[in-house]
Amino acid sequence: MPVMYQVITPPTPIEDLKGVGPKLRDKLLELDIKDVNDVVFTLPSGHENLTVMDLREAAHNDKVTVAGTIQTEPALAYFRGGKNRLTVFMEINGMYVKVIFFNQPYLKDKLKVGETVKISGKFQRHKLEINAQRLIYDDSGGYRVKYSLGGVMHSKTFSKLVAQVFENAIFNYDLPEDLKGKYRLLSIREALWRLHFPGNPHDINEARRTIKFYELFIFQLQLMEKRRRERVRNERYIVDYDVGALRTFIDTLPFELTDDQKRSVNEICRDLKQNVSMHRLLQGDVGSGKTIVAGIASYAVKTIGEQTALMVPTEVLANQHFQSFLEIFDGLLNIAKLTGNTSKKEKAGILAALRSGEIDLVIGTHALIEDDVAFNRLSLIITDEQHRFGVNQRKRLNDRAYRKNVLYMTATPIPRTLSITTFGDMDISIIKEMPKGRKPVETYWRRFEETDEVLDALEAEMKKGHNAYIVAPLIEESETLDLKNVQEIFQVFTDRFGEENVELVHGRMKPDEKEAGMRRFESHEKPVLVSTTVIEVGINVPNATFMVIFNAERFGLSTLHQLRGRVGRSDKQSYCVLISDPKTENAKLRMDIMTSTTDGFELSERDLEMRGPGDYFGVRQSGLPQFKVADLAEDYRVLEHARMSAIEYSAKMEGDG
Ligand code: ADP
Ligand code: MG
Repeated sequence: MPVMYQVITPPTPIEDLKGVGPKLRDKLLELDIKDVNDVVFTLPSGHENLTVMDLREAAHNDKVTVAGTIQTEPALAYFRGGKNRLTVFMEINGMYVKVIFFNQPYLKDKLKVGETVKISGKFQRHKLEINAQRLIYDDSGGYRVKYSLGGVMHSKTFSKLVAQVFENAIFNYDLPEDLKGKYRLLSIREALWRLHFPGNPHDINEARRTIKFYELFIFQLQLMEKRRRERVRNERYIVDYDVGALRTFIDTLPFELTDDQKRSVNEICRDLKQNVSMHRLLQGDVGSGKTIVAGIASYAVKTIGEQTALMVPTEVLANQHFQSFLEIFDGLLNIAKLTGNTSKKEKAGILAALRSGEIDLVIGTHALIEDDVAFNRLSLIITDEQHRFGVNQRKRLNDRAYRKNVLYMTATPIPRTLSITTFGDMDISIIKEMPKGRKPVETYWRRFEETDEVLDALEAEMKKGHNAYIVAPLIEESETLDLKNVQEIFQVFTDRFGEENVELVHGRMKPDEKEAGMRRFESHEKPVLVSTTVIEVGINVPNATFMVIFNAERFGLSTLHQLRGRVGRSDKQSYCVLISDPKTENAKLRMDIMTSTTDGFELSERDLEMRGPGDYFGVRQSGLPQFKVADLAEDYRVLEHARMSAIEYSAKMEGDG
């Protein structure tokens, strides 16, 4: 969701500005500058301080603006290709300095012996030389403002347009007075003015502080507005499920729900009963037991004869969920699986049964959003690993709902700053507590040369009848010598434990081969699985207690954490060994963090710190807003204040209206 930058109404189009003809208009449009609001919110990319300084205080390589008297006739020298150099000596703050202008031959006539001039450039202290950028004519001092306009127009020309807007436009919108008072902020007009036409560094800082707050505040208001729009009240959204039947079902589960699971179930059930559409994110670390929570919700929907769709990003995960749901709902729900691998004939049957309402729960991949999929009464939509789907893909499924109740699940713990900004329009349920009896995975970091000891430890686990995951980052022989590829690693393990005990699964295999391999591993026919990161998402083999990750430095913290989450899924003690000879400080730090905590939320905060928010979500989350001044990693506190302010403000507005 792009942030709205609108403080001037009406937003007069740029062609109404003096001096903007069709040609300039087109150029500005290319930069996405359409109206006067865009003009004032095109903030300078830099400010060059033109206040004259004392050269004696400048360090080597400093950019300086200084004044001095011309001592010698300028000497002009030409090189090949028409390039040229103008050299003149000046006395500046009592020093005799050689000043060089490149490719500005016309300055020869302007630099007269005895005159005092102002120049700016880079100071080469040890040579007492200034590589001059410009001769400064105006005597105004202050700042020169630069804009990133992609070479479309000069900063100076743009400045004039900005000035014109300030002269003529009325700024109708400003931050509420009480907020300005409370946080000692400028008016928006004043802040923008100071950024475009600054007088001193303090001005710029104050102005940035105000604009930062403004963008975060407006963004929060927008999110709340979006939330209001999506939570339309309508009797139609009510899923009046059978509470008694649901209770009985929960009582028959083979385990007791954790407090966090109970709370999440309650929140979801309350949403279902309400006359507003559900729009909830269920966040919980790997293995925290989100699946059963989703299952309970789908059972609720079933009690009134309506349907649930569960969309997952991969075939493997669809199978996994299908199996767990079959176990949980043995005979209670009619469950189908629909993926790209479903045969034509089978698919036709499933589609018909979905249309007739015979199927209560369908679990599938992207196959669920194909055009021919229609439901009888789809009243609950669950998306697992929701960040792996695009907004449009999710929308395509959501649009098929009879009662639009949407539950997103994610095992990626999201730092609070980011969840406020990206999911501010959703309700959030969090499962922090692991199921009873779970022991934190003991994590170790070992060097390659210590691999043998790791194999000994693994053998001990195998003797107890446990499974083990071995993760290798690559499929093919790599150019990097010490990078262990999956084939090579497979060899190491078959040599030691015998081919009859070791399974190989990697991303290049056909889905049914992968599937078969996974099944042999799960059934303990082959207790050791060597694989690439295909196991990252959602696999559940509680008997697995040992994981070895080769070249662990190749993975980011969140991937490592996801991988590690495949073990420690029962009451048995599990182990994770990171094998790595890290080359960078950053990689070392990641190994240390991994061995020091198993808390996904803590890891995600550390990850955000190390990588910054853009990188953190990367391509996974293109919905991350782009701010002009605010920085999500740094401005956490401002964000909190802006959020609280937005909540108070909109409550007041509603009260007034
Ligand atoms: P997630 O999807 O959050 O990664 P799962 O739903 O796959 O986690 O749960 C992991 C395992 O824990 C499953 O085998 C599940 O049956 C089991 N489990 C879930 N909730 C509980 C609980 N309250 N007590 C004991 N085991 C549980
Ligand atoms: Mg899961």
